[in-house]
Amino acid sequence: MVQRISFRLFIFIFMAAALVIGTGVALYWRQVSHILERDVKTHVAAAGEEAAADFNRLIQTDQQILESIALTVEDTYPWADPRRLTEFLKRQTQHNYFKLLGVITENGSIHLSSPYEFSPSFLADVKARTLEEGHYLSVRQADPVDGEDVLVQSAAIMQDGRPVGALFALQQPERYRPLLALSAMGNKGYSMVVQSDGVPVLGYYKTSFSNVFDLLSHADFDEDITISGLRSSVQNREHFLVGYQASTGHRFLHFIPLQINGWYLISALPTTFVAQQAQHLTWLSFLLFISVFVIFFALIFYILHMRDYSNRQLFNTAFVDQLTGADNFNRMCEQFPEKLAALNGQAALVIFDINKFKVINDLHGYERGNQVLQRVARVLREDLSPDESFCRSTADNFILLLKYTDRKSFRGRIHNLATQLRRDCTVADSCLMIDVAFGVYEVKENIPFYIMLDRAHLALENAKKRSFDKCQFYDDSDRKRIVAEKQIENTMEAALDHGDFAVYLQPKCDFATGQMRGAEALVRWNRMSEGIVRPDDFIPIFEKNGFILRLDMFILESVARLLAAWQVKGLQTVPVAVNFSRLHLNDARYIPQMLRLVNKYNVPHEMIEVELTESVIFNNLTRAQDVITRLHNYGFSVAMDDFGSGYSSLNVLKSLQFDSIKLDKEFLAGFEDNPHAHKVIEGAVSMIKSLGIQVVAEGVETRDQADFLRQTGCDLAQGYFFSRPLPIEQFETLLKPASPQQP
Ligand code: C2E
Ligand code: CA
Ligand code: CA
Repeated sequence: MVQRISFRLFIFIFMAAALVIGTGVALYWRQVSHILERDVKTHVAAAGEEAAADFNRLIQTDQQILESIALTVEDTYPWADPRRLTEFLKRQTQHNYFKLLGVITENGSIHLSSPYEFSPSFLADVKARTLEEGHYLSVRQADPVDGEDVLVQSAAIMQDGRPVGALFALQQPERYRPLLALSAMGNKGYSMVVQSDGVPVLGYYKTSFSNVFDLLSHADFDEDITISGLRSSVQNREHFLVGYQASTGHRFLHFIPLQINGWYLISALPTTFVAQQAQHLTWLSFLLFISVFVIFFALIFYILHMRDYSNRQLFNTAFVDQLTGADNFNRMCEQFPEKLAALNGQAALVIFDINKFKVINDLHGYERGNQVLQRVARVLREDLSPDESFCRSTADNFILLLKYTDRKSFRGRIHNLATQLRRDCTVADSCLMIDVAFGVYEVKENIPFYIMLDRAHLALENAKKRSFDKCQFYDDSDRKRIVAEKQIENTMEAALDHGDFAVYLQPKCDFATGQMRGAEALVRWNRMSEGIVRPDDFIPIFEKNGFILRLDMFILESVARLLAAWQVKGLQTVPVAVNFSRLHLNDARYIPQMLRLVNKYNVPHEMIEVELTESVIFNNLTRAQDVITRLHNYGFSVAMDDFGSGYSSLNVLKSLQFDSIKLDKEFLAGFEDNPHAHKVIEGAVSMIKSLGIQVVAEGVETRDQADFLRQTGCDLAQGYFFSRPLPIEQFETLLKPASPQQP
């Protein structure tokens, strides 16, 4: 999901950036072209103006030079020595870079710096114009020697205030050509000099047209410009710039009036120059853009990559179990609804853990323990289909979400899985077999994940208790039981404080006479909601949470108080047996507490009998031995309860000094139809009696039982046949008044 978003984001940013950059380049291109065009116009204008100024200056300078030479020439008038004059002209030509200098005298004779052929009309024209105007400037087209256009300039030679001749010069073309080259424009453009009527005067190249206006008459001007408009602008001596589309491409023309002869300097520049410049610049910019673009995307890519990487890292720490590489519990929680939906609700949530996993760690080290867990994950990975999932939640605890159809096939699958785990996960060279217990919750209701998990846990607890069939399914009664247990735990303290626990007494009777010889105190809980509750429903819970220690002492105190009260009431008391949980055996406060309570009511110790169950004694023989001895020392008698219900060992009877033994009611069960049972009971009773221990038969319900037990030699009977456990008031009615003390 994260990756998909990143990729889409990346594509989006890429497209957006490409669009922005593309538009940027296009706009930039346009802008640069505009700026360059404007720039070029300015440059063309400036270069033109400069060329015009230079041209004007050159003409003026040459005119001054010519005039100063004319002054010298005047001095040698009337040029009696023509050779000297010719020599002088020759020298001046060399000094001043003229191509040629010549003098035309008033009477028409000619002196030249070097031999040259001129048409008489040209000479006549120069002489006439110079003598008339004082100077002359024109173009001599097609120099007869080299065919080039040359500039002809002249100054009058004066004598006594009157012109006597004309000094003229032919300009070297190199003098003005550089001015027409527009070198500032990278030699892309050129200039020319035209007359105001458009007839070309000088060009950088040899002009092949007769009139610039005719040339432009077909031009496609950028603006609304007509040839007559151009002509009048020239007539008005305006500076202006026009752009037009020539057959060879777009050009600019800059018109600048010169100070001589009404001439114009026209500078022309092809716009391709501008385009080339713009292109050059734009390419550079484009390269720059591309570099920025590439760097930008490399950066974005890097950032996305890093984000992706850190996301993956985060994901791994948050959702992956580092040891097995499997999902962890958080991942399972997060994905559960999705995964469950994928199985169409036909699923079971399974929890399993390895029995005594701690032992593997302790015996073989954590390394081996980890190996086992990794193998478990591998087996699960192979076993599960793609729509199923699993996670390691804690230590050796795995949670699985599996497909489920019916209990029978599911049980089969779990069985196979257990076999595979046992086979593949047992650590080599270890004798420890992997044994796994499974708790299964069949998903039936739409309940939160954690509740399903609780239920699977409950089933797992049950499974762990079994020695075989370690796959248990959750049963709702388990939950109800647990809820009831919880309720009991929540109310027990208050019940003890409110006196909701009561003592019932069940008589122990003499077989022979039927007379009551003693009684057993049995606890009852008067619960408002349920009435009187029997101990089997709460004693096991109190044994688990330790509350039994307090309850037993409460019963003992009640019994002691009763015994004392009977004495006061003048009733014949009988010894009362009190049941003590196995937990007391390990409690150092047991006997001191007992003594304190019994002594508090001044009850003779022999009136109290302690009942300890057979299983307690069997489990902790030496401790039991110690406690029994001490109880005897304080004068209490001790009975072994529930003899024959568990793993009775006659050896126990030999080691411990019981005063009486209570045959469990199960011992009697079904004895009527079983001749072997008769023998066993008879044998047990005679054996116990032979040890000098009193025998009490519990759960005597019928006359037949009573008759048989009496015959076996049992001493006392306790059972519904004689009396049910009775509330105190009822029990007291059975007590006879004490016979008056014999003096
Ligand atoms: P238990 O010590 O073996 O007590 C005898 C149980 O057998 C009593 O059940 C009694 O009501 C029942 N019983 C008596 N005669 C007959 C009969 O003819 N037929 C049948 N079927 N049952 C008969 P109760 O009172 O429900 O007590 C159950 C167990 O709870 C007791 O077994 C005892 O182990 C335990 N318990 C009762 N009170 C206390 C107590 O104050 N402290 C401790 N630690 N355990 C107690
Ligand atoms: Ca008992
Ligand atoms: Ca019993």
